[in-house]
Amino acid sequence: MKRVAIIGGGISGLSAAFHLEKSRAAGADLSYTLYESGKCLGGSMHSTRLDGCLVEAGPDSFLTEKPWALSLCQELGIDDQMIGSNDAQRKTYIVVKNRLIAMPDGLMFMVPTKLVPTALTPLFSLKTKIRMAQELLHPPRPMQDDESVGELVERHFGAEVVDRLADPLLSGVYGGDANKLSARAVLPRFVEMEEKYGSLSRAMLAAHNKMKAMAGKHPPRPLFSSLKDGMQQMVDTVTARLDQTALRTNTRVRGVYREDEQWRVAIDLGSSELYDAVIVATPANVAGALLEAVDRDLADDLLGVTYSSSVTVTLGYYANQLTHLPPGFGFLVPRSEGRRMLACTFVHNKFPHRAPADKGILRCFLGGARDEGVLSLTDDEVVATVRAELKELVKLEARPMFERVYRWRGAMAQYESGHLARVERIERRVKAIAGLELAGNAYHGIGVPDCIREGTSAANAVVQTLTMAASGQSR
Ligand SMILES: Cc1cc2nc3c(=O)[nH]c(=O)nc-3n(C[C@H](O)[C@H](O)[C@H](O)COP(=O)(O)OP(=O)(O)OC[C@H]3O[C@@H](n4cnc5c(N)ncnc54)[C@H](O)[C@@H]3O)c2cc1C
Repeated sequence: MKRVAIIGGGISGLSAAFHLEKSRAAGADLSYTLYESGKCLGGSMHSTRLDGCLVEAGPDSFLTEKPWALSLCQELGIDDQMIGSNDAQRKTYIVVKNRLIAMPDGLMFMVPTKLVPTALTPLFSLKTKIRMAQELLHPPRPMQDDESVGELVERHFGAEVVDRLADPLLSGVYGGDANKLSARAVLPRFVEMEEKYGSLSRAMLAAHNKMKAMAGKHPPRPLFSSLKDGMQQMVDTVTARLDQTALRTNTRVRGVYREDEQWRVAIDLGSSELYDAVIVATPANVAGALLEAVDRDLADDLLGVTYSSSVTVTLGYYANQLTHLPPGFGFLVPRSEGRRMLACTFVHNKFPHRAPADKGILRCFLGGARDEGVLSLTDDEVVATVRAELKELVKLEARPMFERVYRWRGAMAQYESGHLARVERIERRVKAIAGLELAGNAYHGIGVPDCIREGTSAANAVVQTLTMAASGQSR
């Protein structure tokens, strides 16, 4: 029987294990062991209930249009537990000079597509609005170098759009800095659109109209999906389907070594085990350290992926304390506002099943690429900072019924300039090493669906390699 080690029990590693479990059930002659240094599986996916409210420690949902999370839920038989975001109430605000200004109608991920709301919004200066109108005439242009999202957006719409939209939106998704994140890696659609249409506004509108026509009479799908009992429900259901004797929590892997045709996985307490294949589903910098003895160049590239950290603060309130909040999903805070808070989600508005009718939840984000310092604050200091900023921004003075702080050190891979070339080099080297696969948020997408796809395809590649090896073929 072939043995596979999976290192890292976040959603990437769990998806890999689930695929191996299915292959095993289908007759593949293999076993697997999943190593997780923490006491729980799921990585940053963790949900808990406080006073009847659902508190998400890390991700609260996933993008519906990326199919891999939905497919996993279907395979797990929990698709009936899926919930969609309350898109009818979707409204997001940007903080400008301490005031919340609604993002204008027709703004599609920072690209304006509707003339009148864009012309009337107080979110942009007249100069930016003129720039937006001129953008419609932007000529097609092939991407020359690996420019940053900030540079690309500034070329089209000006610096104010970078400050008020691109940077806060990317802070939300990547905990990143728009002036460092690679446009090709993070927004490949924008690059393609510029090459084909020139104007991003015209391209976005064309894509939107095409999608509308294709959707026909079907009601639009919600932008975000989650599960009634939170993202933990996905973790728990996958875990329950795995071989329970194969799950080693509280077990940190210290190194991975090649030994003849096999892999030695060294764990705590000086013990080690031999495997036929290894899937490393940890953050890339951990993978780099683990693989130093296997391939120095590969390790260097993995160690070169930078990460940002994030702190989330969830505050629970009685609904009558929140009546003066504006309707909508929450607000984003541009860096130029000089605040620590990056964003605040009105969770009870964004999703159903998150809080009882008489309660509400605010989830605030801090940290990101430019504020690692927030990690060194105590919980009390973090909560005090958030409450002071909420008081100034939305006049919320009430003492919350509960507060919960989560710190995610180095959790968000930063796809900076050169990212795609780095990933290509990593993949080339991995391909040359039989029985090694990588998975995680450092390569082809940071979201939960991307990680599920990554874990699944790593496991699929391992099964193929082992099957071919068993039948005497090489990869
Ligand atoms: C605050 C926050 C909010 C987010 N919000 C969203 C969202 O709303 N939607 C979305 O799609 N995505 C979101 N993301 C991103 C997404 O959650 C992550 O990219 C994804 O969960 C990463 O999964 P992973 O398995 O690749 O990595 P991880 O979850 O980091 O798992 C890696 C695991 O490896 C373990 N490990 C590390 N070193 C070792 C070792 N030496 N030996 C053994 N085990 C080890 C770690 O303990 C960890 O459990 C968010 C992320 C954060 C932090």
